[in-house]
Amino acid sequence: MRSVEGTPKVVSLNPDRRQSFYGRDIVSVKQFDREDLAFIMQVADEMRSIVRRVGATDLLKGYVLANLFYEPSTRTSSSFIAAMQRLGGAVIPIHGVQYSSVTKGESLPDTIRTLECYADVIVLRHPEVGASEVAARYASKPIISAGDGVGEHPTQGLLDLYTIQTELGTLEGLHVAMVGDLKHGRTVHSLARLLRLYGTRQTFVSPDILRLPEEIKQELIEAGCVVEETERVEDVIETADVIYVTRVQKERFADLHVYEAVKDYYEITPQLMARAKPKMALMHPLPRVGEIHYDVDDDPRAAYFRQMENGMYIRMALLAAVLGKA
Ligand code: ASP
Repeated sequence: MRSVEGTPKVVSLNPDRRQSFYGRDIVSVKQFDREDLAFIMQVADEMRSIVRRVGATDLLKGYVLANLFYEPSTRTSSSFIAAMQRLGGAVIPIHGVQYSSVTKGESLPDTIRTLECYADVIVLRHPEVGASEVAARYASKPIISAGDGVGEHPTQGLLDLYTIQTELGTLEGLHVAMVGDLKHGRTVHSLARLLRLYGTRQTFVSPDILRLPEEIKQELIEAGCVVEETERVEDVIETADVIYVTRVQKERFADLHVYEAVKDYYEITPQLMARAKPKMALMHPLPRVGEIHYDVDDDPRAAYFRQMENGMYIRMALLAAVLGKA
């Protein structure tokens, strides 16, 4: 080792916390404290309950979301659309920026200033680190980052945290192992940072060239986390409460030969899962491209499909919260 059933209205929450989301940009998980996270997870629980009982609500009737994606997406874009629609709102979907004025040379600030004339909230995925912060500086409406390059993916981090909470019933003191492309994996960057608030032990499992950025490691150590690194899944399989697997991010490699050399480094198989704890969660932000064998899907500990569904509830909660309706 290198070292509700219940009422659709939120009645029991601290009004200050509600206020702290209203009109706020969501650009990095570093902006949240534990109370914020407890709030948003509680609202997500209520969203789940509403969807299960009645499918939809008109909480955001009359509101419009602009969904602006400069990079490919399946889950994030469609779950934001579904979230807005289940809240009774409407969506402007811009998923092929090649068909928008971006190809005419329009700058991000101008595109943002355009969309906020029509929409109340803007979801932005962009290939450059910090793009959502730039957008937020220009926008008077809330910007929600849907992933910025190799930086962060805050809403995925929130849904991952929520999934751990719902799968294991706690976030405190867990041993979480993150596996795969930890250098480019923005979902790992967000989740690791969120978990620093809960006294976790975090083991980062990767080939040497895909290790977690030093800056994030230092943040975790300063927050009091136990941080370990290894190249072998076998080092964590028996002790981890969560194994969070990621794909090697082909699109981030300048040299595809380097990608080829590391792309098949890890595969979680039923044989490996046989050695894992009986109560643990196997997670993946998806898409998977070989890191988890399909024969693992029926294992009750395989949480990645539930994780995906949780994304919609978390995004419903965030949309309602930033629009002051949670
Ligand atoms: N869907 C996630 C992301 O957008 C994970 C991935 O693409 O591998 O970061």
